[in-house]
Amino acid sequence: MRIQLSQRLNDLRESGLLREARTIRPSANGWCEVDGQLLRNFASNDYLNLAHDDRVIAAAREALDEYGVGARASALVCGRSEWHSQLERRLAEFEGTESAILFPTGYAANTGTLSALIEPSDTVFCDRFNHASLVDGIRLSRARLRVYRRDRLDALQRELMSADTTGHKWIVTDAVFSMDGDLAPLSEICDLADQSGADVIVDEAHATGVFGPTGRGVCELTGTEDRVAVRIGTLSKAVGTQGGFVAGSSELIEWLRNSARTQVYSTALPPAVCAAAVRSLELIQSEPERRIRLFQLSDLLRAELRRFDLNLLEQSRGPVIPLVLGDPNEAIHAARLVEQQRFLVAGIRPPTVPQGTSRLRVSVTTAFNEQDIRALAVAITRAVSELTMQQKT
Ligand SMILES: *Cc1c(COP(=O)(O)O)cnc(C)c1O
Repeated sequence: MRIQLSQRLNDLRESGLLREARTIRPSANGWCEVDGQLLRNFASNDYLNLAHDDRVIAAAREALDEYGVGARASALVCGRSEWHSQLERRLAEFEGTESAILFPTGYAANTGTLSALIEPSDTVFCDRFNHASLVDGIRLSRARLRVYRRDRLDALQRELMSADTTGHKWIVTDAVFSMDGDLAPLSEICDLADQSGADVIVDEAHATGVFGPTGRGVCELTGTEDRVAVRIGTLSKAVGTQGGFVAGSSELIEWLRNSARTQVYSTALPPAVCAAAVRSLELIQSEPERRIRLFQLSDLLRAELRRFDLNLLEQSRGPVIPLVLGDPNEAIHAARLVEQQRFLVAGIRPPTVPQGTSRLRVSVTTAFNEQDIRALAVAITRAVSELTMQQKT
């Protein structure tokens, strides 16, 4: 290669931003093994502890024996098994929409859907903390991209009303912001969309299975399901499996089946993964106590961390609990100090979060109990005070 990657890698290393993917061995009880150490996993998005549920595994295993591993082709060629069509039907039922369509990942659902719907002459209003896959989808559409702040909706309103566009207007937002854990103000956003003739696209990735009376997400929670044009979700977080989906009108889904390139030109999900997701969605519906428990544990952790006077992001709701430290090296060091006390939490740095807001990100799952949560709060408090002491000396 003629370009110098070593220099780029060095730059990352020197600014504390070089990342490393560690090998992890997960287990059924929420613990995991990392570098030979057993840790309680508080970095996972498997909020309802379904990735390792016996019934979900059994569903996958049965389909695996019958259908083999790979899907063999994209959905339109020959990759769409009975399990795919059943899962799409179940997703539409779960979401209360006419139809639904699967994608290989949530990332692919976002890039494929946005680029298939948005035209180059359109203008897209995009929350500044939206997930990378939404931003990439907008870029692929070649539409004009306008970034807004959800704490400054008055400014968004002005921009929406005065936008100089020959095309359509869209507002695109995460439902739950993955690094801050707060919720999009969907009612207000839908009001603005109504005023300005825009359409709203919501990515429910961290909300599916978690928020709303029946776990559909933040659109359900805020009563905006009928006001949001496109709802996108993932099966790889609270559902505990893999894959992305869009739920909506039959017409929307038919359009995506014909034109979303990440769906047309990518191999379909393994049938066994679809079988597992069908079972997992059933459990999400029949065991609402999982969601209730998740919120109890998350609220307990918030209360415990506040008791120790730690700098929590006040807006966060539900299982994602960020603790902003600022410097990237500090965030990574703090995560290591927590790890020494046998808890795995994520240290998050730019470009995932803005400069100066590196943080510990804790995600609560129902694999643990009150005692674990209290012990985690103590571990984090110790780590942060140790960090402060080391800085002083
Ligand atoms: C995780 C995430 C995605 C990507 O979903 P995958 O299924 O992991 O590809 C998309 N959007 C948001 C907001 C996410 O947090």
